[in-house]
Amino acid sequence: MRVKKLTAGGLAGLTLAVALFGLTGRAEASGVTTHSWMAVEAIARVQDPELRALLQANLRQVEAGAHYPDSGYGAGPPVDIPNTYGEESHWPRFSYAYVDQIRDDPDCGDLTDPAGPCAARIAHAFGAVAHGIGDEVWDWLFEPAAPDHGESYAPPGTPASTGGMELQMDMVAIQDHRRPTRPDLPVWPDHAGLLDVYATIGRTDIVEENLTDGERLMRIVRAGERIVTTNHHHEVTANQPWLSAHLVSAPGGIRFAARSIAANWDTLWGRLLGDQPATEVAVTYPAAGERDIPSTGWARASFQPGSSPDRGGAATRITAVLSSSLAYRPTVSSQLNIPTQLPPGAMTLTEAATGDPVPIRAGYPRVVPYNPEAGEHTIDIQPNDDLAPCTEYRVAVTANLIDAEAQPVSPYSWTFRTDGCTETVRRPDAWVRVVDEFGRGETLNDTGAWFGADVQTANGAGQKRATTAPAGHALTFDVNVVNDGTVAERYSVAGQPAVPGFKVQYFDEGGANISRAVKAGTYRTPRLDPGASTMVHLVITPKATAPLGAAVTRRVTVTSRRDPTAVDAVKVTVANGPLPTLGPVPTGAAAEAQVAAALPALFCNLG
Ligand SMILES: [Zn+2]
Repeated sequence: MRVKKLTAGGLAGLTLAVALFGLTGRAEASGVTTHSWMAVEAIARVQDPELRALLQANLRQVEAGAHYPDSGYGAGPPVDIPNTYGEESHWPRFSYAYVDQIRDDPDCGDLTDPAGPCAARIAHAFGAVAHGIGDEVWDWLFEPAAPDHGESYAPPGTPASTGGMELQMDMVAIQDHRRPTRPDLPVWPDHAGLLDVYATIGRTDIVEENLTDGERLMRIVRAGERIVTTNHHHEVTANQPWLSAHLVSAPGGIRFAARSIAANWDTLWGRLLGDQPATEVAVTYPAAGERDIPSTGWARASFQPGSSPDRGGAATRITAVLSSSLAYRPTVSSQLNIPTQLPPGAMTLTEAATGDPVPIRAGYPRVVPYNPEAGEHTIDIQPNDDLAPCTEYRVAVTANLIDAEAQPVSPYSWTFRTDGCTETVRRPDAWVRVVDEFGRGETLNDTGAWFGADVQTANGAGQKRATTAPAGHALTFDVNVVNDGTVAERYSVAGQPAVPGFKVQYFDEGGANISRAVKAGTYRTPRLDPGASTMVHLVITPKATAPLGAAVTRRVTVTSRRDPTAVDAVKVTVANGPLPTLGPVPTGAAAEAQVAAALPALFCNLG
């Protein structure tokens, strides 16, 4: 079974949603699909059950709020919308004023009522908070991984740039993770109230027309993203396989952001109800107890947010995300100086065994990734030089750190260990992706993003790829078998057999049919050195006898032959049904050049 080679530019003749929806000449900002996803993922991580219920009941407004800050970015010609509320709406100066307005509004009644008169405003405000925090951790920890992995890429002929990865990863979010771009999200609740919030912080320049422009832009971008995804998803997964595979699990990715957002929401909920809890360390990189953190690579020229080719160093940062904002200038004209550098002793780095302090880089610890004047939640400390190999380090955030309420942050410390230890680790890592899932044909043989990279579960939990295919359609899944351990090994590969209604076959990397051995659990991979990998292809074909909607789930398990507890699995599910679609993607005369021209701000303007 041979995977067909990708060729670029196979799809032509897609016309622009702008024309279709009668909204010619409007722009949009994006990354918005990923932002909504982070916010939706955060809801289940909220501690307070009343807040969780309110956000769940107003989910669509949470998603709209997560689009909100980028909808206020303007764009150049041919779209003439001034940049008004975009940048401001990312930061606590705006969102805390928004929450305080709701808190002080006597018409809001019981703020905990999921159907209360102000529930939509709460959900929208919290969605906007999610966006800002998502940008902080994404720009600081996720995007610099692009140049680190040689994936500082932007699909040609799109509004994407190498400076940010939001549009690129939106394509993965939309196609592989089925993040919706339709139906339309609700409009912003209470425009007059929003304009009052801006006035409170000194932004009387923001007017009603800006908000209605932003609402239209949000709707256009969702249709525009379907077009861009249809035409360019294959380029993203081909050129950015690491980023696409780690979008959910990497530091600064979806899960990391969701945890950061949830912690901040719990704090803001307390603020809204009149009892704001102390600021805590919510999420860190490295994680507490994490191993194999690089010991080298710390002596870089600089550490920056973003994904431009000259950036990088994502794995050599020591970062803590707080559950609330640090100090900010409460209005745009406040004469308050907010230093970037943290107070002495606010964040420390020591060798864990001895307690010896590690020399710190000039300017650190500091607020990251941007200017703290409108509020930020992320802090970072950098050693002045490389770390010692196989050594445990302790990071501490102390009460010397003062939050926006002028209160000390709750002290917290954690440890991590650098790489270079010599113990034997046996760790097979199975990944799975689907090939040409949408049936777009030979010229656009689209490979899906990998699922399950760096995820180890013996039953395949958390690493499943599900889709649909009609009867007679042979659908290929690639299973990548990676030696993530420290010694060379051959692994056993076991795959579940066929079931009535579905043909299930396995092929090796060279295309040989290995179905019998894989189904019997006797198949062995070639000898794989640490870091090496091989591919097994799983092909599932729904039969004409399978009822429409019938589904099969098959698991492929990879096991160390020397240690049966070193095991990883992935799962795939195929339902008998039509090939998936993204919804209406207009086709016709005009080309995607129109998308590039009319959606020039299709990513977040930060950075
Ligand atoms: Zn943004």
